[in-house]
Amino acid sequence: MTRATRAVIDLAALQHNLDIARRAAPYSLVMAIIKANAYGHGMVQIARALHDADGFGVATLDEALQLREAGIQKPITLLEGFSHSDQLVKLRLHRFDIVLHNEAQVTLLEQSPGVPVHVWFKIDSGMHRLGFNPQQAKSVYQRLLTCNAVKKPVALFTHFANADDRHDSYTKTQINTFLTSIDAMAISPAPLTSMANSAAVLAWPDAHSAWVRPGIMLYGVSPFTDSTAADHDLQPVMTLHSELIAVNQHHKGDRIGYSGTYECPTDMPVGVVAIGYGDGYPRHAKNGTPVLVNGQRVPLIGRVSMDMIMVDLRNQATARIGDPVVLWGEGLPVEEIARHADTIGYELLCGVTVRVPYEYRHH
Ligand SMILES: *Cc1c(COP(=O)(O)O)cnc(C)c1O
Repeated sequence: MTRATRAVIDLAALQHNLDIARRAAPYSLVMAIIKANAYGHGMVQIARALHDADGFGVATLDEALQLREAGIQKPITLLEGFSHSDQLVKLRLHRFDIVLHNEAQVTLLEQSPGVPVHVWFKIDSGMHRLGFNPQQAKSVYQRLLTCNAVKKPVALFTHFANADDRHDSYTKTQINTFLTSIDAMAISPAPLTSMANSAAVLAWPDAHSAWVRPGIMLYGVSPFTDSTAADHDLQPVMTLHSELIAVNQHHKGDRIGYSGTYECPTDMPVGVVAIGYGDGYPRHAKNGTPVLVNGQRVPLIGRVSMDMIMVDLRNQATARIGDPVVLWGEGLPVEEIARHADTIGYELLCGVTVRVPYEYRHH
C-alpha cells in the first residue's frame, strides 16, 4: 500500500455549499471562484462538479485555458484581466470575459479591433488593489462606450477589503462608494453589477446585485474571522487524512523533535503522523494544534517537520500504528488549524502540495 496521506474531496458537500450561496442570494447569478486550483481542490474536477454555477472566475489566462481544454463551456471571467496583446488574442479566441481595471488595458483594446470582449469595468471602491478610482471612472467608461473591441453593455465590478468582519462598516462604505460612482455615470438602463465575495453573500445582502462571486464558502470554510463553517451550515469539502506510522513511549523530560520545543511533562506515548510541511501542513502550527486520531482530538507537540508531525497520545492509550488521522476537514475545521498557525483557511487549502494524492467522492 502507498502512503496513507491523502486529500479526500467531497463533491456532495461542494454542491451543498453552492446551494447555501444560492439560498443566501436568491436573485443573483453565481460566478463560482475557482482560481488557484480551486483553492487547492483541483480546478477541473471542481468546475465539472459545479455544473449548476452560472459561470466561473479565475485569476489567470492559463487557468481559464485549462478549463476550456477540459470542455467547460460556461462563461469564464479573468479576474485580473490581461496585460499583453497576445493574451488578448487568446482570450478572444476562447470567449473569456475580463475584469478591466487599468488604462493600459483600455488602450490595448482600442488598438486591437476584433471580436468584442465582454468586460467587467472595475471600480476601486476602497480595496486599493485593482480598479479605477471613482473620479476616473466616468471618463474611462465613456472611452469604453466608443471602443468597438468592447461588447455592450458594459458591466460593473468591485471587490471588498473587510467583508470578513461582519461588524466593520467599511463594507457599507464601499457599497455606497460603488453605487454612488455608478449613479454619477448616469448609465441607462442601469448596468449589471457584481460586488459580493463569500463574506458579502452571507452577511451583506445590499451587495448581492446581478452576480455574486463566492469562493471560500463553496469549499465549506467560513469567510469570517469569528466563525466556522458549521455556523453557516457549510460543509467542509477537503478532508486531509493520514495515519500513525509510529507510537513511541517517552520519558518525563524527553524533548520532542527539531529544536526540542516540547518537553514531556511525564512519561507518555507519542504518536508520529505521516504528514508535514512537504505536504502543506503548516510549519507554523503551534504546540497544542488539534489533530484527530481515531476521531478524537489530540494535541500536536514539537516542530512540524517536512514529512512528519508528533502528537501527544496520553488520551489515546490504545492508539497504534496504522490508526487513522485527520489533519483538517470533517470533524476538524481548517479555520481552527489556521488560527493555531497564524494564517487563514484559504492559505492552508491552497498550500496542499503535489505529493498529496486526491480522491474525489460524490457522497
Ligand atoms: C478571490 C476572489 C473572490 C472570492 O473571494 P472569497 O473570499 O473566497 O469568497 C471574489 N472576487 C474576487 C475579485 C476575487 O479575487
